[in-house]
Amino acid sequence: MAVQACLHWRDTSAERRIISSMPANDRCLFCRIASGEIATKKIFEDDQVVAFNDINPQAPTHVLVIPRKHIASLDDLNEEDAAIIGTTLVRVSEIARTLKLNGEGYRVVANHGEDAGQTVFHIHFHLLGGRNFSWPPG
Ligand code: AMP
Ligand code: ZN
Repeated sequence: MAVQACLHWRDTSAERRIISSMPANDRCLFCRIASGEIATKKIFEDDQVVAFNDINPQAPTHVLVIPRKHIASLDDLNEEDAAIIGTTLVRVSEIARTLKLNGEGYRVVANHGEDAGQTVFHIHFHLLGGRNFSWPPG
């Protein structure tokens, strides 16, 4: 599904079957956001990927883009996750274009582990834009 103005994903029974067959962790915050158990204004969702604003934004635009599939972190990826991670990154790119971040530039961050500052152990990509970013990162 193309992002196209961040239209919301249609909740048809066929699509619900796809989701219900996906492994999820019912204690995981982002699984609960993805499933709708925790109400969050989503800026994009389809059958595989969900995006919503970070609750503690670090830039004028700070979106979290997550696969619906529960994967704890980059360190837990294996070959069978290649397609879903690829799709998630394509959605990051589409959302960045929809939000018009592509002209000036944006940053995509994935933290793995406590030293890197990972606090939610469901893999996610931070999409940050709307200001200048220094390098190296802190
Ligand atoms: P990380 O520290 O890389 O694991 O990123 C987790 C992000 O999730 C942080 O930037 C938090 O601000 C954000 N976060 C935590 N809880 C929520 C929530 N309920 N809704 C939106 N973002 C959240
Ligand atoms: Zn999860």
